[in-house]
Amino acid sequence: MIAKANFHTHTTFCDGKNTAEEMVLAAIEKGLSALGFSGHSYTFFDESYCMSKAGTREYQKEIQHLKGLYSHKIAIYCGVEQDFYSREPITGFDYAIGSVHYIKKEGMYLPVDEGAEIIERDIRTLFAGNPYAYAKAYFETVAEILETTGADIIGHFDLLAKYNEKNPIFDAKEKGYRDCGISAMEALLPYGKPFEINTGAMYRGLRTEAYPSTDFLKEIQKRGGKILLSSDSHDCASLGYCFAEMAALARDIGFRSRLVWTSQGFEEVGL
Ligand SMILES: [Zn+2]
Ligand SMILES: [Zn+2]
Repeated sequence: MIAKANFHTHTTFCDGKNTAEEMVLAAIEKGLSALGFSGHSYTFFDESYCMSKAGTREYQKEIQHLKGLYSHKIAIYCGVEQDFYSREPITGFDYAIGSVHYIKKEGMYLPVDEGAEIIERDIRTLFAGNPYAYAKAYFETVAEILETTGADIIGHFDLLAKYNEKNPIFDAKEKGYRDCGISAMEALLPYGKPFEINTGAMYRGLRTEAYPSTDFLKEIQKRGGKILLSSDSHDCASLGYCFAEMAALARDIGFRSRLVWTSQGFEEVGL
């Protein structure tokens, strides 16, 4: 059984702070039995955080090299975090995480994870001041993430709440917000792909809950959805952050298992 594994890992090939090899060594040190890399796919309209086209090929080469080098210590996978609006193919990767980082509105790509002031400005200027119209646009995009990207894992389901701890932007209990999230969830559930429980914003001290929120996680469980633990790591220290707490939370909610990626595809393991 794979006790501890992370499949959402960034490196200096995109916006991570550590090299791929440093991440591998840290994962071994922490006792992880599998490490999946997920560099940000190239997005032509925003090159600030993603892998370049040439860098993507270098990334694949380097991960392949590390796979061989450390195969006796840890299983390594070369995945990709495929943005909804990326036009790059996902072929050639072991798996893909499908993620929405932008809402497209009037030809513009509005980042949902780059700061509260950006979100508030966009709500004001492009959504007539209505945060629930913004949330609706976000979740309507999320609803199509698997269809559009062909991904294996649903990345940070409610990323738009990154700066919404204590609800300054919108009330996460509000029907106008919850209903949009649940519609997206219901559109994705039939694919049978896991929703990641992503602790990235917890590690950064921005949130006390993972993505998806505990509230959404309960709805996923009620509907028979699957889960996978991920720390969306951008540095060594965050690998596996709060996994024990998230596994306990998932158990409390009623989940009995989680998925891990293996060379044979997904495998179900106990929580
Ligand atoms: Zn992401
Ligand atoms: Zn990520």
